[in-house]
Amino acid sequence: MPFFISGKDMIEDAYRNQYSIGAFSAHNAETIQGILWAAEEENSPVMIQIGQKAIQYMGMEKMKKMIESFSTDITIPISIHLDHSQQYKQTLQAIQAGFQSVMFDGSDLCFDENVKITKKVAENASLLEIGVEGEIGTIGGTEDDITIAHEDVNITGVEEAVAFSKQTGIDYLAISMGTAHGIYKTPPNLRFEQLEKISNKVKKPIVLHGGSSVPDDQVQKAITLGVSKINVDTELRKSFTLGIQEVFQNQPDEWHLAVSLKNGRDKVKEKAIEKMRIFGSSQRAHHFKKA
Ligand SMILES: [Zn+2]
Repeated sequence: MPFFISGKDMIEDAYRNQYSIGAFSAHNAETIQGILWAAEEENSPVMIQIGQKAIQYMGMEKMKKMIESFSTDITIPISIHLDHSQQYKQTLQAIQAGFQSVMFDGSDLCFDENVKITKKVAENASLLEIGVEGEIGTIGGTEDDITIAHEDVNITGVEEAVAFSKQTGIDYLAISMGTAHGIYKTPPNLRFEQLEKISNKVKKPIVLHGGSSVPDDQVQKAITLGVSKINVDTELRKSFTLGIQEVFQNQPDEWHLAVSLKNGRDKVKEKAIEKMRIFGSSQRAHHFKKA
């Protein structure tokens, strides 16, 4: 029986117990299975997220139904999350479709406009006890169709983070703390001092975007400072693609998709397991009780 729970409850448990939920991006049937099977094997709560590229490619509700259909034989707690929505209307559609968590990303709007829309999203979502993520500060790199050049990266300020969190009523806050979306050319250095200040004043779970290739010790330190949701997308896509490439390199005449896609799926599962262990979410499924 699938066990869907509010992103709010899921992230709050991680926050209280100093571990992090992995929010893994799904793009097709095989990545959904890889993520869910990893969580099941690790006894880990899991957030599975649908981003803008996947929505354009597969459709938001179709993706959600696909996740649900693969969840029927999964027993650990699952939260389906809408990632980086820049449209108020899309967040409403997700809320109506029964997502357990939504993100409105107004980080490229002015502060007041970002607050105004994020607050409306939070008001709608909270009626149904759906978790809400907002973002303040600009995270660099490329995610889906959004590219932020290096010179435009804006590390989140403490005062703006506190004001944003209070005025919007969000449940968890994405900030810019020195990471970027995508694969890094050189390993990033997280701004721990800034993270600690923000975390102490905001007193809400913090979300780390651009977690791919951040050294494990930095990730774990960030978790001790209040990071309770870590988005993982690029690394999973890379694992999936390399898994398929491996098959074609070794067996160029292998036309069975059940062979090539399966190897991609296995690699996604392996990577997700690795992340769950680093994040400390493994063996935490028992924290959550079925209603
Ligand atoms: Zn992101």
